[in-house]
Amino acid sequence: MGWQSTGDGSLKGWAGSNGNPGANSHGWVSENGGKSGGVAGVIKDAAKAAVESAAQMAKAAAKALANCFNPLSYAMACQFVVDPRITLAQQHTDNHTDKATAMKSMTTWCVAPSNYFTKLPPRSSYKCDKCPTMPAPGGYGCPSLTVMRYIEKLAANGPVTVNDFAGGCHDCNSPHYAGDAVDLKKDMLRTSEFWVECQKMGGWFFDEGDSLHCDFRAKKGIR
Ligand SMILES: [Zn+2]
Repeated sequence: MGWQSTGDGSLKGWAGSNGNPGANSHGWVSENGGKSGGVAGVIKDAAKAAVESAAQMAKAAAKALANCFNPLSYAMACQFVVDPRITLAQQHTDNHTDKATAMKSMTTWCVAPSNYFTKLPPRSSYKCDKCPTMPAPGGYGCPSLTVMRYIEKLAANGPVTVNDFAGGCHDCNSPHYAGDAVDLKKDMLRTSEFWVECQKMGGWFFDEGDSLHCDFRAKKGIR
């Protein structure tokens, strides 16, 4: 158990850390069992949740941005644009259109190395029902190499349509915003294949209604 003063007189510990916060294997535990109680407690919990959410969004933004600089990935982006087996959607599944559609992301990314920092693929920044408290985060972002490899793998066996990478508006802390997720157009014949490949590569797969979703979120921390 490791300990840290939180500055408000209480102590928090990391279970199983042997005194080393970096070695935490069980997440945060509150010494009072997490029962803050009362209005003050509710406010404190809400503040803590807001801080954690902001930290998570910052992590997602950094990760998505870093993905844009992977030379293997952006070479694949150029390949995806011209690959006849890969269809890149030109609008999000909610019919919204912006510069973060699957098609625009890949075409922008493909030429980005010639003009880095001014022409990176943007993430969407509009608001949707999936996250009523805040809009999609904006900024810039690209899918991870794992996501790109997943699409490449599926395309090797037949046609595939990408509805969204890091663009679109999703759940508040969606792995899409970190570049860890992809939405595929539903394909009745290949659903199980999409699922199996996603799981084989260590991902989470589910039907999110308007798309088949596969993500490779980090096992701890960011979702
Ligand atoms: Zn999704």
